[in-house]
Amino acid sequence: MEKTVFEKSRPGRLGVMPPESDCPEANIAELIPEDMRRGEAPPLPELSECDVMRHFVNLSQKNYSVDTHFYPLGSCTMKYNPRRNEKAASLPGFTDIHPLSEDKDAQGSLEVMHELQNALAEITGMDAISLQPAAGAHGEVTSLFTVSRYFHDLGEDRNIIIVPDSSHGTNPASAALAGFKVVTIPSDADGSVDLKALKEAVNEHTACLMLTNPSTLGLFEAHISEICRIIHEAGALMYYDGANMNALMGIARPGDMGFDLVHINLHKTFSTPHGGGGPGSGPVGAKGRLAAYLPGPRAVKAEDGSYRLQRAEKTIGRVKMFWGNFLVIVKALAYIRTLGGAGLKRASQAAVMAANYMRVRLKEAYHLPYDRMCMHEFVLSADRLKKEKHIHALDVAKGLLDRGFHAPTIYFPLIVEEALMIEPTETESLETMDAFIEAMLDIAENESSESLAKAPETLPVTRLDETKAARKPVLQWPQ
Ligand SMILES: *Cc1c(COP(=O)(O)O)cnc(C)c1O
Repeated sequence: MEKTVFEKSRPGRLGVMPPESDCPEANIAELIPEDMRRGEAPPLPELSECDVMRHFVNLSQKNYSVDTHFYPLGSCTMKYNPRRNEKAASLPGFTDIHPLSEDKDAQGSLEVMHELQNALAEITGMDAISLQPAAGAHGEVTSLFTVSRYFHDLGEDRNIIIVPDSSHGTNPASAALAGFKVVTIPSDADGSVDLKALKEAVNEHTACLMLTNPSTLGLFEAHISEICRIIHEAGALMYYDGANMNALMGIARPGDMGFDLVHINLHKTFSTPHGGGGPGSGPVGAKGRLAAYLPGPRAVKAEDGSYRLQRAEKTIGRVKMFWGNFLVIVKALAYIRTLGGAGLKRASQAAVMAANYMRVRLKEAYHLPYDRMCMHEFVLSADRLKKEKHIHALDVAKGLLDRGFHAPTIYFPLIVEEALMIEPTETESLETMDAFIEAMLDIAENESSESLAKAPETLPVTRLDETKAARKPVLQWPQ
């Protein structure tokens, strides 16, 4: 176990050479009132530069990451992010620009925003894009504020959002945050929306249906045209959770399917490292009359070819300071421009093929509750292992850690018992996928609930009491 910097500290050891204070003692007494001055030096750790360097490099090497391991965390699209995009985002012209620069001094950066808005409008089939939201869930709640304002302007009293039970958990949460009432409808045996339940749920107070597609089961919704027709006939709107766009780039567009609003996750599909909590970006797209409500400012191009920031006519206002997470925007454009339309399509095709390859190879040893062609991910169930050998999804996940793999997403989606949600992405080689499959098969065939009870045994942190870790986290080193 790596000791803390406080434990490694030795009195008098020094890693920096701060300059002499240029403030005379006498002045300090004058400038800082007595009761705001420290009596003694703060208990900071004292270490050499070498100590500090080794400490943090050692800690960093304990991390699991896409750069070190296969990371099949379903719903998160943990694909490898090409260094080229980082290079583009670290150009001084982008990193050093002041967020309050005048438009005329920021032409290159505004051009990047404008190009990305256009590229995302093309990819999603929407009329207008706002790059402001900082995450997928932020994009959702932003869109729902838009829905709310739209119906307010129409003078219609619509306060209900319909959410299928196979949607992402952020959907009902965002709807509630935006002040709507949430009505959940079930999936049919095939994993698609139950149309009968939908028809019963829709009424004159329905504002919007939020559809995660592909759903959290990794399945393409089979009844989209019918769902759009039912919702639109009721005067409500269709919202597309496009965080899983990695399955569809260049193949299918929410705009063409009949959706009015969409969000996408640049930090998933469009190659920004994530998993450590950001920064992310969740642009929203809108069609027709809804475009006027998007948060701004957005980049627009004038007749003379210059760029400027402009607010939409009925904008709901800002949802993020300045230009959104600008460097994520740069990375996404670098990624899109590198691959081009044909390359994006091939990336999605490869992601779908990889998931189906793994699905078919694992479906005998594990239970596959929805046995049909999947998109970028698939959901297995450990319910059979649980019945036969008392091995739970959690045990499978922990066993994988000892075999050198990040665990898949487990116990999500909620509608699958003992769920194991696996998303390989397009960036993994056949050899890596095969090694993961072998590890999964090895666990199913050779492990027992006893042998897995202590797993992981090879990592710095072994099996945790997860309830205690969540309820009584110890986040501080007691001095
Ligand atoms: C990841 C994800 C979200 C939420 O995105 P965040 O950036 O984590 O807020 C929403 N919907 C789906 C389908 C997702 O996979």
